[in-house]
Amino acid sequence: MKNIFIPILLVLCTTISCTPTDEQCVNEPLAKNDSVSDSHSYSNHSEIRTTHIHLDLDVNFEEKIIYGVARHQMSSSTVSKAIFDMKGLDIQKITLGKNNELETDYTIGKTDPIKGSPLTVNINPGTEYINIYYQTTKETEALDWLSPELTAGKKHPYLYTQGQAILTRSWIPIQDTPMNRITYSADVKVPTELIALMSADNPKEKDSEGRYHFEMKQAIPAYLIALVVGDMEYTSIGKYSGVYSEPELSKQCSYEFVDLPKMINVAEDIYGEYRWDQFDLVILPYSFPFGGMENPRLTFANPTLIAGDRSLISVIAHELAHSWSGNLVTNATWNDFWLNEGFTVYFENRIMEKMYGKEIAEINAVIEYQDLLTSIETIKQSEHPEDSQLKLQLKHRNPDDGMTDIAYVKGAFFLRTLERIVGRTKFDEFLKNYFDSHAFETITTESFVQYLNTELLTPNNIDFNANEWIYHAGIPENCIQIHSKRLTEMEAWASEINGGNAVFTNEYKNIKRADRVTQEWQAFVRKLSPELPTEVLNEIDSKLKLSEEANPAIKSDWFILNVNAGNKTIRPFMEAYLIKIGRRWYIESIYQALVDSKLKGDKEFAIATFEKAKRGYHFVSKSTIEEVLK
Ligand SMILES: [Zn+2]
Repeated sequence: MKNIFIPILLVLCTTISCTPTDEQCVNEPLAKNDSVSDSHSYSNHSEIRTTHIHLDLDVNFEEKIIYGVARHQMSSSTVSKAIFDMKGLDIQKITLGKNNELETDYTIGKTDPIKGSPLTVNINPGTEYINIYYQTTKETEALDWLSPELTAGKKHPYLYTQGQAILTRSWIPIQDTPMNRITYSADVKVPTELIALMSADNPKEKDSEGRYHFEMKQAIPAYLIALVVGDMEYTSIGKYSGVYSEPELSKQCSYEFVDLPKMINVAEDIYGEYRWDQFDLVILPYSFPFGGMENPRLTFANPTLIAGDRSLISVIAHELAHSWSGNLVTNATWNDFWLNEGFTVYFENRIMEKMYGKEIAEINAVIEYQDLLTSIETIKQSEHPEDSQLKLQLKHRNPDDGMTDIAYVKGAFFLRTLERIVGRTKFDEFLKNYFDSHAFETITTESFVQYLNTELLTPNNIDFNANEWIYHAGIPENCIQIHSKRLTEMEAWASEINGGNAVFTNEYKNIKRADRVTQEWQAFVRKLSPELPTEVLNEIDSKLKLSEEANPAIKSDWFILNVNAGNKTIRPFMEAYLIKIGRRWYIESIYQALVDSKLKGDKEFAIATFEKAKRGYHFVSKSTIEEVLK
């Protein structure tokens, strides 16, 4: 997943009853996955586990319900119960067997607000098949049902799922832990005017009866099972890649993502074979709460990436990098999330460097580092100052609390610092072997540290403070510093304006927005002082059209500055933006600035805008903004 802003550190008063899985994890951390458990899952996967799941799904847009049968093929076992995770689902019946199904008893345990409930099914020793008949409900958090007006075409409804971190259990009863990898297949029925796509092998065209069959033959964690249904068409970009989008967007997509095939080659050059055969994108409507989601074979991407100038392509590099870090080698629990994201941000930057040069890669890294410093400050003031450690302790908390710049950017700087010390050649060899030797496995932080020591540090006689990086808060002193001349120049220009100089003088007299990349404008805007008079901000805006025409990455920083400066001129643009965009990273910080503002009426404006905007937001964004506004 890419670009998730610091979530509000939710105070969740939960009384979680002790489950067999909870008891097992008292002695974390342990090196072997078998001995570690995932406190966010009720499942007894260490006793009996799903090896393959077949889904029969009927997607009903009128009722906004998916009617499903989850057919679990189980590992051989002698236990008498199989425990699955579920949340907000109606279970109709459960049967055992393949061709001759017999109904069996089950119980649904107490509901926890984060984890949902354990679904305990009575089985016989040797039971191979468990079939759960169910339907989704209004409480199903993974599903975003969009009415036609929230799509680009405005004619057809749309549906997509978001499984990470623990939302898959809200649309499929499943052992919802990354520790268990499964293969899956599905038969999906949708209205004939729409196409269904999954994180699997996908159709290129609509089926006249609206029936689709899917196979995912590589074993994946449950959070990567994904479905999207809408009026979409496929645009091929190269032999193994292409883009699904609403027809209205396909032309823009083929321009924006033309570099996809080259990007795959570049990634393979660095860390070896791409193992998922196909790399397609699907461009979702604006309500999608993330920049991208690395569902295997079919990355879900936010339409805000269509910047018109290919300047936000790093998100695609990020999702592609997940084909190695995250999808191939997966964090064993959500406490180890940095193993997914830190490695991915590092790899993303390496792809960017090879595609667009060192300068662009550095510009990206510097902007990320600025975000990291802000996040660390926020975390320091929060209820959980320990959250700036790489290895987290999220038991009894929402795993989304760990989706901060720490996992992403501190994780990446840990690897960059290591690379600097070890040298790139050795470091690349190490990482390539790491991906190969752990392919299609899950891994804990402790196992990674052990691997790092035996394969890299000890043989090369390197003394490195890995424990400080991983188990201590903040940024260690040996963190490498990255500089960018181009960003420094933009910041110097902003400082001159802050000091009272005229805005568009000398070399900046005829500057246009297209003359600089997105990150340069971000550096410029971030350096401008909120003490600047409104007239100066409006002069900048009227020339550069930041409120009106800039891409969301720039707009977001620009609106925050104007809120902090008390400039209400931009409000109509900001309101339209907050209603259109549902990507949490871009909107949360604006709402936060409005809530923190001392200016009369700002908080009321935030609440009124949210009321208008919320039906276009996914559950993930909606619940985060509700927390901000509380
Ligand atoms: Zn990611």
